[in-house]
Amino acid sequence: MTLLSIAHLSKSFDGVQAVDDVSFDLEAGQLLALIGPNGAGKSTCFNMINGQLKPGAGAIRFEGHDIAGMRPRDIWRLGVGRTFQIAATFNSMTVLENVQMALLSRERRIYSLFGRVASWKEGEALALLDLVGMTAHARRSCAVLAYGDVKRVELAMALANHPKLLLMDEPTAGMAPQERNELMALTARLAKERNIGVLFTEHSMDVVFSHADKLIVLARGRLIAQGDAEAIRNDARVREVYLGTGASFAPRAGAST
Ligand code: ADP
Ligand code: MG
Repeated sequence: MTLLSIAHLSKSFDGVQAVDDVSFDLEAGQLLALIGPNGAGKSTCFNMINGQLKPGAGAIRFEGHDIAGMRPRDIWRLGVGRTFQIAATFNSMTVLENVQMALLSRERRIYSLFGRVASWKEGEALALLDLVGMTAHARRSCAVLAYGDVKRVELAMALANHPKLLLMDEPTAGMAPQERNELMALTARLAKERNIGVLFTEHSMDVVFSHADKLIVLARGRLIAQGDAEAIRNDARVREVYLGTGASFAPRAGAST
């Protein structure tokens, strides 16, 4: 069964058609990049899928169930994870404690991590940190982490809920090119290993073309093209909407993932 199926999704804000009749599918284990110039409607799409925004029209089927208009918490519970939700307390805890909190929240419990519960879920949390290559940082405060490492912790926290679908709206914003590639390579590996579908946005065309299995291009709310990197790279309409934005569509010399 298709993991995520979007049909005729639309949303307008005060007469601005932010998302206009958008339809696409995402399979388990697939990395799907949603791209398009600023204001194209990417975040609005994400926020309808994660429940933050109510769709104006259309269907959002997750494993066959229409989740359009459901509450964010209920959508999360079905297995739709996202990476940008950082708790206000994030910086006051260690890397390990943050992942433990994410594991506890899956069980609908709210415990203090201070005192005797501090060791709960430690093994499971350390296993998640191992997956994202952060074991060595487990006991460090999140406040002192490098930006790229914060992103890895966010990913471990998102994985704590065993998501079937991961929504990543600009996960690499603010990162250097090499860090961007590393984070998306890690995400791609985990998606394949765990059969997780990933929907992400990303400004760097290099990163998109290197890691996405499939791309969807939005412009002014409308889906103007979809296909693999090769098809999108050669699409005249896509080149047109990106003209003047500085985006590079040329294959990199000696490109590798
Ligand atoms: P993207 O993420 O592709 O940059 P957005 O989804 O954020 O684009 O925005 C799409 C359009 O919808 C833009 O014209 C934006 O100004 C408008 N928009 C987005 N969110 C709101 C909002 N909460 N209220 C009013 N207009 C909005
Ligand atoms: Mg956006």
